[in-house]
Amino acid sequence: MILPICGFDAKNSILCPQCEGKVESGQLTKADVDASIILANIAKSNKEIDDFTLYSCKEFDGNFVLSLAKNDIMKIRQSRTLYRQFQDQFKGKIWLVEADETDKRFIEDLFFPTKILSINAVWAPGGVQKTKAVVSGKWTPKFPIDTQKVIQIVKDARNLDIEIEFEDKR
Ligand SMILES: [Zn+2]
Repeated sequence: MILPICGFDAKNSILCPQCEGKVESGQLTKADVDASIILANIAKSNKEIDDFTLYSCKEFDGNFVLSLAKNDIMKIRQSRTLYRQFQDQFKGKIWLVEADETDKRFIEDLFFPTKILSINAVWAPGGVQKTKAVVSGKWTPKFPIDTQKVIQIVKDARNLDIEIEFEDKR
């Protein structure tokens, strides 16, 4: 497994001086450290994630945005058990995103498994650029994704202002 901190540190829930230094300098966050320890822990009982690569974990108000390799995300999405195992270990909702992806892909990942029909830049009054995402279907109280959280995560992680619209507005 490739993690933001050393594998040894993650397995033993400690930080070596080098990793400690990275946290102090801000190169790594507490969320990076916590997520690394959680993944190493899951790997103890689940060999499936032995070859996973965690690039980073960012926390925004109890939301944990995990940047993983594309294949790793696919594995998690294909296994309810694995997804549960991940979700149960974090003290908030987890969001899986691909590392180094485009803004468009980032937004699509946050909405998974809901389909995004389009993502376009739009100009809001006052000449402010916004990004509008159109989600397929219509919003119901059962819609599983908190759109307000998506807006906040995109703002915090990408510094993008997005507007979310549903295909069927009624
Ligand atoms: Zn270390």
